[in-house]
Amino acid sequence: MERHRFVCSECGAEYYLQAWKAVCPNCQSEYTLTLVETPREGRKIFTAREYGVLLIIGYTFFSFLTPSSPTLINLMISFTLIPEVVAYILFLLLALFLFLGTTGGVWAAMVVGVAGTAYGVASIPIHGFAAIIPTALASLWFLGALLFHKHSQAIRAHQEKMEDARNMPEYSGWGSEKSREQH
Ligand SMILES: [Zn+2]
Repeated sequence: MERHRFVCSECGAEYYLQAWKAVCPNCQSEYTLTLVETPREGRKIFTAREYGVLLIIGYTFFSFLTPSSPTLINLMISFTLIPEVVAYILFLLLALFLFLGTTGGVWAAMVVGVAGTAYGVASIPIHGFAAIIPTALASLWFLGALLFHKHSQAIRAHQEKMEDARNMPEYSGWGSEKSREQH
């Protein structure tokens, strides 16, 4: 069910509720809960993740266009028996799983991002400028995945806090023991 964000003008406590309440569960003030818009964080996360997805796709295309550049894809093609097409598909799948925002996909994007950055940096003495592009792409998608990971953790913690608020004994508002005692 959809919840709206309310903030108490008296004590500053915030709640996610299905409907407005007359009594603040935290400070017992009456008529102080005000409906406020949901923070824009959700949109910010989505953008960080989207950038990560685009950077992985860019990295895949860069590898395809410059087969001699020091990317993890070209490394796989040169030193393993993995067919070229499979190497590209693996990276496009990585982009897809990051796009879906699953925990495994986000972690995989972070780990591969670190590996790509490390390999790129190590290749700068040999490849020079050509190594800087894949290094930048890998480090930026790592950053995008990391930001998404951090924000989704913060949101999860926030939601757990909201769940706790619902279990507070004062939560029942008007009809509760406390409010009847006061009148
Ligand atoms: Zn309050």
